[in-house]
Amino acid sequence: MDENFDGIQYKEVNTAVIKEFKKRKKRQVITTIPVIAIILIGFIIRITHPELSNARIDETSFLGIPGIVICIIVGVIIIGSVIFSFLNWRCPACKAYLGKNTDIKFCPKCGTKFE
Ligand SMILES: [Zn+2]
Repeated sequence: MDENFDGIQYKEVNTAVIKEFKKRKKRQVITTIPVIAIILIGFIIRITHPELSNARIDETSFLGIPGIVICIIVGVIIIGSVIFSFLNWRCPACKAYLGKNTDIKFCPKCGTKFE
């Protein structure tokens, strides 16, 4: 009886870990979207508005927004996503940081399987 109970408990815990891992992975992917968007937009602006590359940040503006404001917004989004991903991208079982790769199948620290 005890063994059966343990077996069921183990399975239930694992299902919860996998579910939580999938949730974290989804959030992790979503977090990279604004960062990639900023890089792409920055790249496009550089090509379409080459004069901005040589302009001083405090003397320039884009679409009526002062350059310094754009810098702060970009900085907040990038720093925010780095902090969020550092807190989010952790093993649901042992809370270890899971590293840069999002395509992982088990925790490198405790070995808990994620699928
Ligand atoms: Zn772990």
